[in-house]
Amino acid sequence: MTAKLISGIEIAKEIREELTVEVTELREKHNIVPGLVTILVGADPASQSYVAAKNKTAKALGINSEQMTLDVDTTEEDLLKLVEKCNADPAVNGILVQLPLPKHINEANVLIAIDPAKDVDGFHPINVGKMVLGEQCFLPCTPHGILEMLTRSGVETSGAEVVVIGRSNIVGKPIANLMLQKRDGGNATITLCHTRTKDMAAHCRRADIIIAAVGVPKMVTADMVKPGAAIIDVGVNRIGQASNGKAILAGDVDFDAVKEVASCITPVPGGVGPMTITMLMKNTVQAAKMAANLI
Ligand code: NAP
Repeated sequence: MTAKLISGIEIAKEIREELTVEVTELREKHNIVPGLVTILVGADPASQSYVAAKNKTAKALGINSEQMTLDVDTTEEDLLKLVEKCNADPAVNGILVQLPLPKHINEANVLIAIDPAKDVDGFHPINVGKMVLGEQCFLPCTPHGILEMLTRSGVETSGAEVVVIGRSNIVGKPIANLMLQKRDGGNATITLCHTRTKDMAAHCRRADIIIAAVGVPKMVTADMVKPGAAIIDVGVNRIGQASNGKAILAGDVDFDAVKEVASCITPVPGGVGPMTITMLMKNTVQAAKMAANLI
């Protein structure tokens, strides 16, 4: 293998160790235990497993984590009432409403109801606006995790040509914005590609860093990659089922071929995925410190 592997598992472990120190210090010096509430509406199996993983990680770090599971028929009004209750509860520092919500609930109404000071997912328009302005705020977890992977792996972003494929509100747009900021991990020149982009391969071939957040398995092929480029693969695509019933996953990048051209690359699984949950924990600890005026 030519490319160095950027392991999300290893980097997430490093950050969790740092967080454990912070949580212990908060408890011992300030008598504070950060509190996270995750709200799940319905019983979508993927959402159930994401929420369970978030709770498990929080508890392992010493964060007080409570999962609230609501019936799939819960009204928007009742969900908003629960959000309000969590907003008013001083023991709750972070509120996460697992998306997607059932069709009869307007996601935007729910996200905007979360107190921006408890919006540990970083999806509230106030936090999105602050992020774009480069102000202190909760950063959305997946893009924040990507930044940590790049900086902790020593990938130079300043002056780099970065191609982001995918313009979703949760990955593509925020990572493009973050890498544009005038600060460490930023200062890049960004091209944001999507389904209307003409000749995406030509854009990719210019890139020092490619970030693929598309949802199309193995779409980024070796011929689209400049030798020595850094590759961040956000995609999680189920491409089959193993004999033990487990899903077979593939990223948006043709890993086996691209690793022979790139200088470094994230695997799927074990790449961006573990970072997302870890950055949620980092935001929750940050929220607890902010609530106690410690930062
Ligand atoms: P999304 O909301 O479905 O958006 C996909 C984006 O990709 C859209 O902007 C779309 O363009 C673009 N796109 C789709 N097909 C394309 C093509 N053939 N050529 C160029 N652009 C194309 O996706 P998302 O929520 O950002 O997720 C993307 C992937 O990342 C998924 O596999 C998801 O499971 C994964 N993901 C992983 C994590 C993690 O923690 N590891 C977190 C979030 C997402 P248009 O806007 O023009 O339609």
